[in-house]
Amino acid sequence: MSTIAIFGSYVLSRREGAQDVLRDHWVLLEGNRIAAITPERPAAAEIHDRPGRFILPGLLNLHNHCFSEAVARSHTEDGNGRRNNQSIVYTVLLPLSKRGAELLSSEERLAVARLGILQLLKGGATTVMEPFRNAIPEMFDAAEEMGIRFYGAPYLFSTSDAKAGPDGVVHYAGDDGSADLATWNALYQRWHGRGDGRLRLAMSPHATDTCGPDLLRACAARARELDVPITTHLAQSRGEVETIGKRYDGRTPAEYLDWLGLLAPDLLAAHCIASTDADLKLMAARGAAVLNCPRVFARAGTTAAFSRFAAHGVKTVVGTDGYNMDLLGELNAASLISKITAQRADVANSPDLIEAVTATAAGLIKRTDLGTITPGATADLTVIDMTHPHLQPLYDPRRALIALGNRANIDQVVVDGKMLIDAGKYVHGDEAAIVAAGSAAIGRIWDLPEAQAAFNA
Ligand SMILES: [Zn+2]
Repeated sequence: MSTIAIFGSYVLSRREGAQDVLRDHWVLLEGNRIAAITPERPAAAEIHDRPGRFILPGLLNLHNHCFSEAVARSHTEDGNGRRNNQSIVYTVLLPLSKRGAELLSSEERLAVARLGILQLLKGGATTVMEPFRNAIPEMFDAAEEMGIRFYGAPYLFSTSDAKAGPDGVVHYAGDDGSADLATWNALYQRWHGRGDGRLRLAMSPHATDTCGPDLLRACAARARELDVPITTHLAQSRGEVETIGKRYDGRTPAEYLDWLGLLAPDLLAAHCIASTDADLKLMAARGAAVLNCPRVFARAGTTAAFSRFAAHGVKTVVGTDGYNMDLLGELNAASLISKITAQRADVANSPDLIEAVTATAAGLIKRTDLGTITPGATADLTVIDMTHPHLQPLYDPRRALIALGNRANIDQVVVDGKMLIDAGKYVHGDEAAIVAAGSAAIGRIWDLPEAQAAFNA
């Protein structure tokens, strides 16, 4: 069995269910388990003894899109591609990722998937929940090969070719989604439990305005039969709220899901920025969780404050939505955007945000073996180098991490007892080659006339 010992000047452990920062401790890994947290240097085959490290439980990034956001990267900032300042989901992200998945070869799609997973790991995530079009099954191959813990969430749509018209309204084709459910089941058979259990599936009806009642009920039934989490996009825009209200007797998107039995503790709902206060109270009462991704909305001038959801008592975690897969940077944005929105400094505090991407996130996917550094837990770790000049002098490591840290400070990432990032570099492949191949594949999509038209709308 492999044994690895890592020294932390600070180790984020737990005591009586709460965070406990230990000073000058070793974390000993045996195989894929955390064997001990000890002040004495343990015997181990591999010793990492570098001062100034802050050892955290592996961070969970429960909302990300490697492919669809790469398609838009650096094209849609500063208002580009936004007709009347509207969401780019149905004009850029969905149509171009669909077209791109058809255009690219399997090897090219795999290259894009590898580039995304490299970014996720270098952004500090050990676990990702990744919703993606089911025409990109190579996401699973890349996750298996590169070592990340992966909750793959291939989309189901009632209307797989969702597009917004010139008025910004999403038009709804209205097939029943049975083909997507069949594809989801086939991917589940093929991938669930692979990679020593690292790869799993989550049920992923795309959004309230692209999934009809029959499909949503079928998704919930299948997910509950298999005991897998359900994730979807909820109240992403005011347009979605209007569409759902017109279709379903004035219901809000949250009320629509509640009507169908989906608003429950197994639901992880991305964004909820257009949710009313009453919607959030309903979500809190039902135990459904919000996946808060503040930076992707800040890009569009929209506030998505972690503290608003938390203040309503909704379980709230933080993901990157693929926009910028730097989970530490996202936590910093979550802190600042919350403080600005609430106009007070004492919301979205550092321990709360760290809890969101460790123990809270692990609990949402029923993985109490993750998100914690305690004996017997699964050996997933994110190790930060706190010796960088901008992090010194250091008084409170959690505040320094959230207020001042970013992905460039990530020293090591360990998943299932295997060192994937060491000294800030991916250790099982050539980073430059992964970047070049993924970027070249995306470049082919950018060259399409319809891509140019969408970016310059
Ligand atoms: Zn999303």
